[in-house]
Amino acid sequence: MVAKLFRSASFLSLTLAAPVIAATALPASAAAQSETRAISDLGDGLYRWTAGNYHSFFLVHDEGIVTGDPLSKEAARWLRGELRTRFPGKPITHVLYSHNHPDHAYGGEELDDGATQFVAHELAAQAWVLTKAQVRMPDITFADSFTLALPGGDHVELQYWGTNNGRGSVSMLMPEHGTLHVVDWITLGRLPYLDLKGYDVVGAIASIRAVLDDVEFSRFIGGHADMGGPEDVRRSLAYLETLHEGVLDGIIAGQSLEEIQGSLDLSEFSDLKMFDEWHDDNIAGVYRQLVDNEYLQMRPEVSTPE
Ligand SMILES: [Zn+2]
Repeated sequence: MVAKLFRSASFLSLTLAAPVIAATALPASAAAQSETRAISDLGDGLYRWTAGNYHSFFLVHDEGIVTGDPLSKEAARWLRGELRTRFPGKPITHVLYSHNHPDHAYGGEELDDGATQFVAHELAAQAWVLTKAQVRMPDITFADSFTLALPGGDHVELQYWGTNNGRGSVSMLMPEHGTLHVVDWITLGRLPYLDLKGYDVVGAIASIRAVLDDVEFSRFIGGHADMGGPEDVRRSLAYLETLHEGVLDGIIAGQSLEEIQGSLDLSEFSDLKMFDEWHDDNIAGVYRQLVDNEYLQMRPEVSTPE
């Protein structure tokens, strides 16, 4: 029975539907009370961990543990306790920030073991200083890419692709695990959140295309929603491209936001989670960005709707 359970667990992680091996709630606030906390074993020392609608990862190496975003003070404190129990004697050697947004980056101090090195893109660090964010500031910043070589042979390669969502957003590739981790600018199996706050849609499309061209991976871990593979990332890109082009063409044709919402057909993506709830908000978000950021209505050939 035990052997059978183990076999089915490893099969599940191979098919990317990772088994949840722990779900303990130790809430510190009312908001955290109903939050699901879980750790999924992906094999070979790599884990995804979850707090509510948020995901991060950790990677166990010969001399300690590397984690991704802390997610929140409460979530990070919970994770620290789990790591102490599961991996006694293994310190957290590094915390790798994905981008500047506080709902992913706060709580890092709970993961600080004294010698822990915190790493972030320089634009994330700059934003935290300029906005007086209460983030455990990084010890290491970088401009383009940063490779962390771990005792035991694993690597984590952080790469900046330009603006896409938030400031200083990077991808994290673990080549020995065939795994890519991206937070917020690639979301699998679900529509982008509401009206795309924090996004730069044009930049996100460019970044995702570049990732698909340049990065070899078989498994994708997002900061929200589903895990998947390159095909799922392509589908997520296809949605953003279709959404963006539909809104763009509507604006160029002189349509109002309401007219575009009424006519743009995105139904080929209706299987994605939150499609019914969010697709009108997604259209509004792209419309706003094209008008405000790309100055579409300042173009002489584009007429402003009546
Ligand atoms: Zn997010």
